[in-house]
Amino acid sequence: MVEKVIEVKELTKKYGNLSAVDHISFDVYRGEIFSLVGPNGAGKTTTVEILECLRKPTSGVARVFGLDVVHDEEKIKKKIGVVPQEFNTFNRLTVKENVDLVAKIYGVKSGLKQNLKRLGLWEIKDKKFEALSGGTKRRVGIAMALAGKPELLFLDEPTTGLDPQARRELWETIRSLKKMGVTIFLTTHYMEEVEALSDRASIIVKGKLFTTGTVSELVSKYGGDIKIVVKGERRAETVIKRFTKNVFVGEQGNIIGTFPNRRDVAKALLSLYKLSGKCRINVVEPTMEDVFLRVVGGRIDESGELIS
Ligand code: ATP
Repeated sequence: MVEKVIEVKELTKKYGNLSAVDHISFDVYRGEIFSLVGPNGAGKTTTVEILECLRKPTSGVARVFGLDVVHDEEKIKKKIGVVPQEFNTFNRLTVKENVDLVAKIYGVKSGLKQNLKRLGLWEIKDKKFEALSGGTKRRVGIAMALAGKPELLFLDEPTTGLDPQARRELWETIRSLKKMGVTIFLTTHYMEEVEALSDRASIIVKGKLFTTGTVSELVSKYGGDIKIVVKGERRAETVIKRFTKNVFVGEQGNIIGTFPNRRDVAKALLSLYKLSGKCRINVVEPTMEDVFLRVVGGRIDESGELIS
């Protein structure tokens, strides 16, 4: 039986006439990485801040570890760690001083060195926060959030603004937290991040939740067809036609076949390899980008804006 760490039912948050979060429902299971994915202004931060007991819902229910976010704030706060969007802390303090400070607030004395080591911060523990790169600053944020030994960690847009290398390094850090048994709730507007990290994800746009599932469930339900693209072998057209009706010749003479069925992809590939060992064959799988396009009817650009 999976244990629900977060339960959200018909949750709504209004600011005047604006429904920032509009009757959304989803669950998060113990031990998983769950992503709430959507463009700027979708309602991600509002949702996270309600779950962190920082904002009150207008209506609906949100439970964390079975506790109500409105009535059980103190108990919930003891069990969660929070890294807010655009995380910042005392600039003039060192990495270790910042982490020690939070540990003192929580009354925690053990495990701090191990924490810094695990996050790759031990070697730079005496550096001032202001001197660190963006990715390292986020890791300090995570170390501070872990100081209270939380069972559930909220990461609000943890890799926004980082370069691809720093983003990948942070993904590794987040995966290592999951291995430690921490449940992770993250928000993001990067589809690549959803694919790289999440066990399950929910898509949210303009306060409304569109769909929830594992990445592979979402991709197989909404991602569309799998493509085979063959370069440098015109005879491939006849071969592919035996397995799918949808075959066309692309601009550069590539033969492209689209397949709703994975088994037919495998059969076509076998026949293509028999035809020639020289032609270049690419299998193009649908991605979360395709899912978002299909479900929402738009895509999200690098800065997080929705493009319809
Ligand atoms: P972003 O990444 O841009 O913060 P988000 O998905 O986290 O996007 P929210 O910050 O939750 O979105 O904002 C959702 C909507 O609610 C937006 O239209 C925002 O302008 C509005 N909003 C957020 N906080 C307030 C507030 N305190 N008062 C009024 N409107 C607000």
